[in-house]
Amino acid sequence: MQKLKIPVTFDPVKAAQKRSTFDGILPLQSLIRLTESLVIKQGEVAVRIECATDQQGLAVLQGTASCSVSVCCERCGETMLLALESSFIYTPVKGDDNAALALIPESYDVIVRDEHGEINLRQLVEDELILALPLFPMHDAADCNLSADAMSFGDIGPEPEKPNPFAILQELKKK
Ligand SMILES: [Zn+2]
Repeated sequence: MQKLKIPVTFDPVKAAQKRSTFDGILPLQSLIRLTESLVIKQGEVAVRIECATDQQGLAVLQGTASCSVSVCCERCGETMLLALESSFIYTPVKGDDNAALALIPESYDVIVRDEHGEINLRQLVEDELILALPLFPMHDAADCNLSADAMSFGDIGPEPEKPNPFAILQELKKK
């Protein structure tokens, strides 16, 4: 199957009227905020979004975004692979139209349309993946290079041969 790049921006209301489906990829390197916390900043994000109009007449974008990323294990510092996956349902809104916002079911997230009536799909997908990224990624204990046992001894600190800078200060004070 040929992988198509999905559009960065589009008009969600028109897409909903046409019942468009976007099925394609986003280059991972175009998601700069996300790749900041990744070890390998290249790859592909698989994105699928179905646009439709619900019974209430709202335009609805329902989709998934998934990719595998390399992050640093917070325990051992080695690179680890993580599968990120996100499912979402958005409805587009115009700015701060509170009357319209009040009618939106809680199960929908809202995305604001810009002055051209478009939304930024790349930003939406990037936000979703950043939320899917764990704050402190770690290997499972069994796979981690630093076992839980080693951690419990708390034997991680400055090497003993290195002089403690505060000790030096104390020596100076004594003189
Ligand atoms: Zn680890």
